[in-house]
Amino acid sequence: MTMNTVGRPTRPEGAAAGAEGFQSLTGARGLVQDEPLIFELGGWTKTGVDLPDVTEDADDLAGLTRAGLELPGLSEPEAMRHFVRLSQKNHAIDLALYPLGSCTMKHNPRLNEKAARMAGFADLHPLQPVSTTQGALALMDRLAHWLKTLTGMPGVALSPKAGAHGELCGLLCIKAAHEAAGQGSRRTVLVPTSAHGTNPATAAFVGYTVTEIAQTADGRVDLADLEAKLGDHVAAIMVTNPNTCGLFERDIIDIAKLTHAAGAYFYCDGANFNAIVGRVRPGDLGVDAMHINLHKTFSTPHGGGGPGAGPVVLSAALAPFAPAPWVVSGEAGLALAEAAEGEAAQAFGRMCAFHGQMGMFVRAYAYMLSHGADGLRQVAEDAVLNANYIKARLGDVMTPAFPDGPCMHEALFDDRWLDGTGVTTLDIAKAMIDEGFHPMTMYFPLVVHGAMLIEPTETESKRELDRFCDALRALALAAKGNDDKDRFKNAPHLAPLRRLDETLAARKPKLAWRPETLAAE
Ligand SMILES: *Cc1c(COP(=O)(O)O)cnc(C)c1O
Repeated sequence: MTMNTVGRPTRPEGAAAGAEGFQSLTGARGLVQDEPLIFELGGWTKTGVDLPDVTEDADDLAGLTRAGLELPGLSEPEAMRHFVRLSQKNHAIDLALYPLGSCTMKHNPRLNEKAARMAGFADLHPLQPVSTTQGALALMDRLAHWLKTLTGMPGVALSPKAGAHGELCGLLCIKAAHEAAGQGSRRTVLVPTSAHGTNPATAAFVGYTVTEIAQTADGRVDLADLEAKLGDHVAAIMVTNPNTCGLFERDIIDIAKLTHAAGAYFYCDGANFNAIVGRVRPGDLGVDAMHINLHKTFSTPHGGGGPGAGPVVLSAALAPFAPAPWVVSGEAGLALAEAAEGEAAQAFGRMCAFHGQMGMFVRAYAYMLSHGADGLRQVAEDAVLNANYIKARLGDVMTPAFPDGPCMHEALFDDRWLDGTGVTTLDIAKAMIDEGFHPMTMYFPLVVHGAMLIEPTETESKRELDRFCDALRALALAAKGNDDKDRFKNAPHLAPLRRLDETLAARKPKLAWRPETLAAE
């Protein structure tokens, strides 16, 4: 067990790296070194920068100056190595397939990165005079145009900074529209049982009551249940299409008609837009508001908490309530409409201090231009083809949750195929890590028992899909065979850390590091 400078083991008890039977003397695995916390590395006395000694007494705070910042003292190479070592323990789309269902983990084209780093975009300041930011405003305007064209919707708010933030924006528009029409007493939002957790969370955050809509045996919204629950108390429905079971909502037009007939708005969760981009325009289906995760459909990077971008497209009824700012064109060129006057008079406010995630706008727009309208259509077609290939290749050893008919962009399996094996969905996911694959989304959507949701995206080759399917087939046969189940029960055997107590970590997170406490222990 490696100890750090204050005598704490650098990994939890019992979580030592290494296949059973071999343990290195240092805790390293091959050339991958064990890595302590940054605070434990360098002590406090060093620094990576040369600062001149303070010569004058700078204390004009009556003795209230802080005595020591307690920043980790690392030289530049030590700091560099720390973060590179940590990055080696992480998975990334640049390393291999990242099959997380509902996340659309696709390759981020380097062309996008090149465009986003151009000084004219990357070095702007949001408070710079607009006469000096005309190019950036033009790009935002073009991006807005493409988003409106691809979705068939007349309005768009670019500023929300993630899908969930877009949901909040959409529901705030809906709330403002109801209040403007004297319908503020509508306090309920209907959400299907298969919805992503952010949908009910957003509705609750806005102050709405959430009521669930049942699902049919074939994984779609139950129209009869929807009709029974609609009424003049309902503000909106939130439906994902294609839904989180990877299926197209066949009755989507009827869903919209029933909703509108009840005086409610149709919020569509557009996180799965990748499956239909260039082929279906949500505006034609009767959608009133939909967020688009630029970091999913339009290939801008995601992970590590962001940055994402979640622009919201809006129907004619909701567009007047869109949050400021947006790009307007006048005699002096382009500008951002910010104040609650003129066109912006009904805007509900704003979602963030400035205009949103400029770097993501540039990447998404570069992606759109480099694909063109035909290329975007092919994105959707190939994403659906790849998911169906996985469903077909694994369908005989695993149990598809909805076997009838094709899926859209993700293949969903339940855990019936594991019945009697003593192996669970979690065990399979962990065993995949030993085989060199990041697990799929597990136990979501909640409506499918032991769900395994696989979204390959269009950017994987047939060779890569086959490698993935071969590994999963081998695991499936091993799980069903009579061999020792240690391969599953104690997996991952080969990861830097083994199976962690995630419940303990969630209930009693250690979020602060204090040298005194640790030294005392
Ligand atoms: C990813 C996702 C969201 C949330 O998007 P964020 O950008 O992570 O906030 C919402 N709904 C569905 C179906 C998603 O897949």
